Amino acid sequence: MRAVLALGSNLGDREWTLMSAAEALNEIGEVVGFSSFLENRPVGGPPQPDYLNAVLILDTQLEPTELLRVCQAIEKIFGRTRDVHWGPRTLDIDIISCDSQTFESETLTLPHPRASERRFVLAPWLEIDNQAHLPGKGAVADLLANLE
Ligand code: AMP
Repeated sequence: MRAVLALGSNLGDREWTLMSAAEALNEIGEVVGFSSFLENRPVGGPPQPDYLNAVLILDTQLEPTELLRVCQAIEKIFGRTRDVHWGPRTLDIDIISCDSQTFESETLTLPHPRASERRFVLAPWLEIDNQAHLPGKGAVADLLANLE
């Protein structure tokens, strides 16, 4: 299965966190694409620091629900305060799509329901796959153009 993941960090050494998350994900499959890191203002929520976002493409044998479990475990590992010198850091991993599957359960919705409105997901995804397609929504290039 080919999964598209959106990574974000807004606390601590954000680049280190994103790089480390990619290394951890490479243990459960093969990272075949990793976008550049883009800085973005947080969407909603309380006042908080800017995010560093990236999109990663992972080939894995895991089922989507198993992949979600692993992503949440990785979020926990890198979201924890690990070293006083580095301070706290947070990591968010969203599963954007898994092949062309549509899936809905209490814990997982595929494709990710808000991906089509998020420039910080669509732009880095298009950067690493110019044929990118969001199941049920269309070509990522068109979705991105419609946001502008
Ligand atoms: P957040 O804190 O915004 O990252 O939301 C995490 C929650 O969203 C978790 O409880 C997940 O079970 C749920 N969720 C539903 N669909 C997805 C998805 N496609 N990717 C990641 N989390 C998801």
